[in-house]
Amino acid sequence: MQIRINDPPSRHNLLKLATTAGGPAVAAHLPAARPVQAAWSAFLCIGLLIPCASAARGEDPAGEPISPWRAGMLDIHQISTGRGNAALYVFPDGTTMLVDAGELPVKTPRHTPDRPDGTQPAGERIVRYIRRALAHDPRPALDYALVTHFHDDHIGGPAENSPPAACGAYRLTGLTFVGEKLKIGTLLDRGWPDYDYPRPLDDDATKNYRAFVNWQIEHNALKVERFVPGRNDQVVLRRDANKYPGFAFRNVGANGEIWTGQGTSTQNHFPALETVPRPDWPHENMCSISFRLSYGEFDYFNGGDIPGVPPSGMPPWHDVETPVARAVGPVEAAILDHHGYVDSQNEFLVAALRPRVWTISVWDSGHPTLSVWNRIRSTRIYPGPRDVFATDLHHATRLVIGGLDKLASDSGHIVLRVAPGGGSFRVVIVDDTSESCRVKNTFGPYPSG
Ligand SMILES: [Zn+2]
Repeated sequence: MQIRINDPPSRHNLLKLATTAGGPAVAAHLPAARPVQAAWSAFLCIGLLIPCASAARGEDPAGEPISPWRAGMLDIHQISTGRGNAALYVFPDGTTMLVDAGELPVKTPRHTPDRPDGTQPAGERIVRYIRRALAHDPRPALDYALVTHFHDDHIGGPAENSPPAACGAYRLTGLTFVGEKLKIGTLLDRGWPDYDYPRPLDDDATKNYRAFVNWQIEHNALKVERFVPGRNDQVVLRRDANKYPGFAFRNVGANGEIWTGQGTSTQNHFPALETVPRPDWPHENMCSISFRLSYGEFDYFNGGDIPGVPPSGMPPWHDVETPVARAVGPVEAAILDHHGYVDSQNEFLVAALRPRVWTISVWDSGHPTLSVWNRIRSTRIYPGPRDVFATDLHHATRLVIGGLDKLASDSGHIVLRVAPGGGSFRVVIVDDTSESCRVKNTFGPYPSG
């Protein structure tokens, strides 16, 4: 079920809001059947810290440009380029973080078209998107860039027509394109400084990325850190942390080292390599970074491309989702692991995270697969409504999986916009067929907690 901002709220949704905002005493006073607009506004304003005026106006109406980020909001933009994952996070104090900036070097009919079109490389599109989203900042920059893992749909892959960097040391594609145009404060990845787990990483995409890293460290004061699972102090509010004590960023996993959910302790999920036959060694997706971000009652999960359904005959520890999900617990919103591919979103993870909103970063006809779609939709795995938003569903996927007409949205940039304090959030879908920033649709508000 979808809750659109202009829809009258159902009793069920009011009940959830009341339970979050005011407890059973408030819930007992809910209208019996017909929703009352005044009660809806009162709950929003008193209980959820949403400015009354904006709630009453219906913020971000369709057809208008998306409203600017304001202090106190948490924005998570899943950017649609047709060439890979890229997400911009704007934290409540204005601290910015880029999570991945993919650019597939080669496209096939399995892939969706470039967005908004193929006249500029994906890296350039991401830069332009970031500049528009950070228009409130006279000197837009990225306080953090986080690379979940070293695949071209997450960091960019060099192609023959990828332009060279001004220094000549690397090619501009995806993350390296963004880093050439926008200042990055701290870069976090799973491999620094040796890039040798489980074996030396020397594919074209990683070599290009490492050339970028080395040059930027030497000439541009780039700070690079290895992402350390368990820590909650590696990504912090850089601009006004004291004002937003409800914000937290938990490193969950990387390279098979996974937070236990207690303090900062971790466990090694992968066995020692010398005990494992080489064909069974962890692959790149299994080594992906995962994290949980919290703001008040709002929690969000990103697991990169971790798998949870090992291929037949592979050892059970190739399921990375289960220990990660055990540590993370319930969240309000999550992005599907591995674009909803066949090896992802196992039942344990779906039941443990049980989000109200799923997002999928898709550009390939295998995203998502039928089994994944059925699991995330299953009310036997977890009860209650949930909405699913995809960046760019391939038409072939829609033909194969008839039920995908139940997607809340099948195309566009997906903006999760969390209200000041974290008590509720909305989903704003922004047109990706132009750079107009025009809102296609708005969903919510969804209560947190
Ligand atoms: Zn990927």
